[in-house]
Amino acid sequence: MEAKEITKETKEEKRLKFLKEYKNLFIVTYGALFCQMTHYAMQSKLDKNEIYTYLDEARHAILFLGQINKPIVEPEEMSFGKFQSGNPDAFRTHVPRTTPYSILLEMVVRAEGPHNSDAIKKTLEVFAESILKQNKKMYFYATVVSKSDFNDIDHKGNPKKATPEPYWGASLSCSGRKVSQIMLALNCLFNWHEKIAEAVTFAQNNTEKGGILEFPRIVTSEAYKHEDFTLIAHPPCSKCVQVFASCTFKPTVEIPKNATWEFGNCAENESISKLLDGHPYLKNFVKYCAQATGEQMPKLKTDPMQILKELKWSGELIQFISAR
Ligand SMILES: [Zn+2]
Repeated sequence: MEAKEITKETKEEKRLKFLKEYKNLFIVTYGALFCQMTHYAMQSKLDKNEIYTYLDEARHAILFLGQINKPIVEPEEMSFGKFQSGNPDAFRTHVPRTTPYSILLEMVVRAEGPHNSDAIKKTLEVFAESILKQNKKMYFYATVVSKSDFNDIDHKGNPKKATPEPYWGASLSCSGRKVSQIMLALNCLFNWHEKIAEAVTFAQNNTEKGGILEFPRIVTSEAYKHEDFTLIAHPPCSKCVQVFASCTFKPTVEIPKNATWEFGNCAENESISKLLDGHPYLKNFVKYCAQATGEQMPKLKTDPMQILKELKWSGELIQFISAR
């Protein structure tokens, strides 16, 4: 009897210790991410209004995630340096369109220029080392980034000389099942191109089915994964090969790694979504595979509002837009 009580106490102690560490990791990681973002932005050639918008969005996303974190992280527990938002309490009422890391990546790509792959990767590596130096756990940090582009073709089907700019995306950088479900749903609702949102939703509801979106072969996708802070070329997983059935992946792989994570987690969703946003006519060449046609595209598997209510968040499904 006594031994049982000791075990029970120890388990509870362990749980509390984990929650304390998890909360601390949230504060430290996002605090460092915002600090690095601010420092980098101020040294960049970006326009002040653009910088403000990126920082305001990142701050809002961090504080929103803090509210749905277990345990909750309150604004007083975070430091955003001298930065002041025009709408500091919006995290209680409005949802972000994406994660803080994806906002950081957008800013870096804008500052370095999308073609400068080496500079973008180097910047992300320096950030990773600096932000995660105290703790290598990447709960709140994207492990994979990818870039997508295509060799534009002329009316005869020949590749054009000028290659359009690549588009970049990050894997879903948040932690916890419910939080990940919410962020996936918010990306589908407010961030991703309709074709990607539909394909991810379809795949979540039809896990056993084969290819979903058929792209022209000229669409390429190239991913990099953080290995000890260095970004290393990374082959696609089984879910990416399923959703983006005919993309040309680099590096290629004969048997893709069986993904255990949800559809929508991979960086490819974001980069290919941005590619479609950047070239609206490309959408006309993207077809649904036979498996995905003839059926109505289903609604989101999870209702984000219902989960948000379960997590005691009292705002609404309205996207936060920076005041400036
Ligand atoms: Zn994948």
